[in-house]
Amino acid sequence: MVCCAAINCSTQPKHGIPMFKFPKDLQRRKIWVQLLKRNKYTPNNYSRLCAKHFAPDQFVLDPRIAASVGYKPKRTDLVPDAVPSKELMSYGTEIAKKKSRDSTAIEKRRRFQVQYWLRTS
Ligand SMILES: [Zn+2]
Repeated sequence: MVCCAAINCSTQPKHGIPMFKFPKDLQRRKIWVQLLKRNKYTPNNYSRLCAKHFAPDQFVLDPRIAASVGYKPKRTDLVPDAVPSKELMSYGTEIAKKKSRDSTAIEKRRRFQVQYWLRTS
């Protein structure tokens, strides 16, 4: 059974949380491993890190914004240079925290981008 590689995280594919392979690029893979702070950890081809460990802006389609327009993406992709958050914050708390802040100009623009993307795809 594949399980999330982060310490104290037991996310499995059946939980419906997207899980991501470690980068093939060795430099970036090293950064991911360092951020996990696991002792002598070497990811293999089956190692996955779940979406809880990435800030919303690390996704191609910001999950908060997708949810705010009622869109459920079939698949979730990380931006090509995505790295896990240093704090390894929980997906849910990050979403809740950002939501309490009133929508900024950036947020509005991103929401617009998603809506545009939905209309054209
Ligand atoms: Zn996880």
